[in-house]
Amino acid sequence: MEKVIYLKIKLCTVMYMTEKIKTVAVLGAGVMGHGIAEVCAISGYKVVMRDIKQEFLDKAMKMITESLVKLQSKGRIKESVEQILPRIKTTLDLAEAVRDADLIIEAIPEIFNLKVEVFKECEKYAKPECIFTSNTSTIKITDLAKATKREDKFAGLHFFNPPVLMQLVEVIKGEKTSEETMKTLIEFVKSLGKTPVRVEKDVPGFIVNRVTAPSGALLMCILSKGVATPEEVDATMRSVGLPMGPFELMDYTGIDIFYNAMKYYAATISPDYEPPEVLEKMVKEGKLGAKSGRGWYDWSAGRPKIDTSKATTKVNPMDFMFVEINEAVKLAELGVASPNEIDTAIKLGLNRPFGPFEFAKNFSEEQIVNRLEELKEFCGKKIFEPAKTLKEGKLKDLIEGKREEKAEFKTIKIEKLEGGVTKLILNRPERLNTINTEMLDELDRALEMLWKDNEVKVIVVTGAGDRAFSAGADLSTVILHPFDFLEHNRRGERVFRKFNEIPKPVIAAINGYALGGGLEIAMNCDIRLAKKSAIIGLPEVTLGLIPGWSGTQRLVKLVGISRAMQLALTGERITAEEAAKWGLVNKVFDDDKFEEEVVKFAKELAERCAPISMAMIKRLINKGGEVPTDVGLEWECTAAGLLFATEDLKEGIGAFLRKEKPRWKGR
Ligand code: NAD
Repeated sequence: MEKVIYLKIKLCTVMYMTEKIKTVAVLGAGVMGHGIAEVCAISGYKVVMRDIKQEFLDKAMKMITESLVKLQSKGRIKESVEQILPRIKTTLDLAEAVRDADLIIEAIPEIFNLKVEVFKECEKYAKPECIFTSNTSTIKITDLAKATKREDKFAGLHFFNPPVLMQLVEVIKGEKTSEETMKTLIEFVKSLGKTPVRVEKDVPGFIVNRVTAPSGALLMCILSKGVATPEEVDATMRSVGLPMGPFELMDYTGIDIFYNAMKYYAATISPDYEPPEVLEKMVKEGKLGAKSGRGWYDWSAGRPKIDTSKATTKVNPMDFMFVEINEAVKLAELGVASPNEIDTAIKLGLNRPFGPFEFAKNFSEEQIVNRLEELKEFCGKKIFEPAKTLKEGKLKDLIEGKREEKAEFKTIKIEKLEGGVTKLILNRPERLNTINTEMLDELDRALEMLWKDNEVKVIVVTGAGDRAFSAGADLSTVILHPFDFLEHNRRGERVFRKFNEIPKPVIAAINGYALGGGLEIAMNCDIRLAKKSAIIGLPEVTLGLIPGWSGTQRLVKLVGISRAMQLALTGERITAEEAAKWGLVNKVFDDDKFEEEVVKFAKELAERCAPISMAMIKRLINKGGEVPTDVGLEWECTAAGLLFATEDLKEGIGAFLRKEKPRWKGR
């Protein structure tokens, strides 16, 4: 950590200057340049500000002076205007500007070749240890760095407008920027009393502009598809408390600026950002918003009046948040910044009370994903494709910085098939897929993962190899004490119970021996499909044991006391067909067609049946059997009432009437 020297200057929290940087060259004295120069001077740095015409420098100094006077009158600076102002020197000569500089902050117009030329010139005159930075909003830092011989000492330093008031500075790491340069710049930004956010990857839009970019694309979609007029959109957004609607804001900042940003994103991120013709026409006709007197609104008589009675339900303000959350998640997945830093950047860069990750906590991943899918389809824009983390239901893990849970299992395997079907395979074929403690732990972990995974609609449990589903508990498991054995049984029952409780249908595909614990797993599933050659039984009694993983209880419910006694008390083994006659197995398929038939059955289930209905039915049947019928019937009415409010009910009935396949949303 760099040593710092404390000074008694203060703009809000300014306390010190960094040791490595004493003199700053600010190139460009425009909107950003003059503000950056002022901020640096307030914090005690010597500043040399360079522009190409004296009048620009004079105008900049006038604005800085006025701003300092204002800050002084509000008591927001510790030193006087007279003490601060002499720290800023102006020049038209680039060599003079950069000769003594420890840091160059370039804030000239957003033209790549112009910036490259200026940096090449700087290389001639600047000290070897001087750090070069650009305040560019859109150009790749790595590409600018290539114009110099100090790519390790080159970074992005992205201030927000106006620099004096805005708290955020994005510090952008180019591909070759050294860690030392990043650390020096972070300290420098802190010394200005600002909050630095590290941007670890040089992606278009960095953090703030990138997270909000899809909102712009959504706005253009709403317009192009004729969903609502600009005034309706603005009235709607104002009705939820925004001080300005998005179209009004676009007018205020400049239609050309928005247009150029969309063009840039279309070229660097996705053609989905290509601005619509109407926007291009406005730019060509000079309808640039407030500055030209005409944009989406007429500004000739000042700020336009928005008719707030035009607020409409045709536009959902949440949609803008959802597309931003999605983009923020994608940035975090790419390692551009952590969720926490992205939240900080959005709050400080846009003066919002919350960041996208904080806001996302109000919704389930499923809600966000479903809406994004709808927007993607409606707008025909792939940029709204939900982020992987959202689809996998792992937003909480991402926010908490947990590394991706690697689906590394030794005793089981997970295979995702098309159509929402996932196979959970008991994978110890050399030991007839017998269940040991490791398999219990892995099943527990796998079921938690499948529970949260929105892509998983139907689960098929089966055994690896063609001999056994599972031949039961691994009898070589070492257990030393009766109490440990009791706990081992309890543990198994609790894990198997998850097959019963997971709110998705679970099919046991019995592809061979299903004995003891193996049959108990199958009995905890919702539906049992068996291979004709499968053999089923509870042999525990012949070993001096009892079915200890729920067998004595579940079997009675499935086949009645008489048959349960027969199977558990005698240790007898029965065929799949016999089990089907008993009602223990739902269907039996020929051996050579078994796998194919099971997958077909599972896919049909996932396609035909509404996920919420299935989850409810499963719970009602399983839990309803444990309470008096009257209570169970009350639960049933309540569940039916809840389903009435789901979109899937409308979809199910609508699809039936349209004679189409339903497209379930799971909500
Ligand atoms: P601006 O047009 O207001 O100012 C640019 C200044 O640079 C002008 O005074 C111009 O005369 C001067 N200039 C041109 N060539 C020069 C040269 N060779 N040497 C020195 N000065 C030169 O532009 P701005 O809005 O201040 O933007 C500057 C940079 O900051 C751009 O890269 C822009 O993308 C970025 N930026 C702008 C904003 C914003 O809100 N305006 C916010 C963040 C970043």
